[in-house]
Amino acid sequence: NVRVRFAPSPTGPLHIGGVRTALFNYLFAKKHKGSFILRIEDTDQNRYVQGAEQYIIDALNWCHMPFDEGPNKNEKFGPYRQSERKHLYKQYADELIASGNAYYAFDTAETLDFHRKDHEAKGKTFIYNWHNRLKLSNSLSLSAEEVKAKLNAGDDYVIRFKSPQDETLHLKDIIRGDIKIDTNILDDKVLFKSDGMPTYHLANIVDDHLMEISHVIRGEEWLPSLALHYQLYKAFGWETPEFAHLPLILKPTGKGKLSKRDGDKLGFPVFPLEWTDPKTGDVSRGYKEDGYFPEAMVNFLAFLGWNPGTEQEIFSLNELIEAFDLKKVNKSGARFDPDKTKWFNHHYMQEQNNDVLAELFKPIVNEKLNVIQSESEESHNEISRQARNDNDIDVNYIALVIGLIKERATFVSDFWALSHFFFTAPTSYDEKASKKAFRNGTKELMGELKNIILRIDEFTVIALQKDIKSWITSKEIGFGKVMMPLRLALVGALQGPDVFDIMFMIGKAETVKRIEKVID
Ligand code: GLU
Repeated sequence: NVRVRFAPSPTGPLHIGGVRTALFNYLFAKKHKGSFILRIEDTDQNRYVQGAEQYIIDALNWCHMPFDEGPNKNEKFGPYRQSERKHLYKQYADELIASGNAYYAFDTAETLDFHRKDHEAKGKTFIYNWHNRLKLSNSLSLSAEEVKAKLNAGDDYVIRFKSPQDETLHLKDIIRGDIKIDTNILDDKVLFKSDGMPTYHLANIVDDHLMEISHVIRGEEWLPSLALHYQLYKAFGWETPEFAHLPLILKPTGKGKLSKRDGDKLGFPVFPLEWTDPKTGDVSRGYKEDGYFPEAMVNFLAFLGWNPGTEQEIFSLNELIEAFDLKKVNKSGARFDPDKTKWFNHHYMQEQNNDVLAELFKPIVNEKLNVIQSESEESHNEISRQARNDNDIDVNYIALVIGLIKERATFVSDFWALSHFFFTAPTSYDEKASKKAFRNGTKELMGELKNIILRIDEFTVIALQKDIKSWITSKEIGFGKVMMPLRLALVGALQGPDVFDIMFMIGKAETVKRIEKVID
């Protein structure tokens, strides 16, 4: 029975590394018909950030990776916020003390700092374990009475794990294989503090056990904690879940870990959704608001550390579930390539329903047209018939336009530059192109063309093609002589989709008007 959890700490917006961890958990759960659980690890009250939990949930939902169990949802093993489970943890810390696996320590921050600095000065690293334990203030160096007196006096304490001396631990990781660790390099990690809060280590293990987690899939930064976690399972006598530590995500240069700040510095989003810092009001960009489709982001993230072992790059979420295999996840860091996301987005753009895209593009079109309208009274007349319908544009017309231009678009925000001439007549003409297109005799030709167009009754692409092409052929002139100035008249530049499509879309009257404008 596969049960995996995504266990973020609500210390800020989830960055894409977090989303990748969530994704791999989600894929693994779904592949094995198991459960994907969201647990909020908010034991560190100092780092708690307002709104972060909701952000995490919104991000998962936007990626179409809803959790099966979590805060306010299917709370079989709830509550799923560690702050609401606070009462649970002390008994487990006590259990470890009773079994001799943990102990009380009373060292002040100053004492510890002194030892750290003192070691540093001698070129050594201070490790709080059997090396130093007896020189410090803890229940292994004090008498039982002294300990009791300190506890009764309300002295600050922590509970530390008692790391063994001279042992070799054998750890297993699905991605990294077998790992051997010498316990002498481990320190006696703090499990519990006198403010009544467990640390990450204790809460994480207790909850994974109580929530019956079968596989722990998390970022490589937690690999150094694995030895302690193994020992905690052993100390409690609990079954150890399987572990998989996902490779780091590296900067686009391949050097160093991608940080939350790289996005601002290098100009790409590192967050799924836009985030406004509740304290500073600073806004960080998100993939969603930048115009990415969640399918593109998910597809891109899946390839950060995993690949199917084939040439296939395009995977829907269902195909990912089908193909995903933790054993195919790489050990080495995955380079983050922001341009590749764009490549995926361009692909998913082509697959989007044009009616859906039209709803997204419509407000942009309306806004642009309003600006144009307000800028000049005169240009009011130039706005295409389609654009003037009660100051609102027919969404079906927009969908048809999108069908003609989206091949060249990566984002919805690219649409206007590719399609403005479907909504409004050009007000200027590319100078270089005009020189090329308008030569001696071009005006006369355009005049004739106008008459041909006026005579077409059934204004279809086929009729336009047939009549215009046969007229050009009968004149024995090159197509470019007509097509170039015609395109310029319609678009204002030598760009855009097929001219016959454009004429059909904007209609006969508007076509004629645009031709007339370049003749006068
Ligand atoms: N709360 C930890 C984090 O923020 C969870 C690590 C784990 O999955 O064990 O990443």
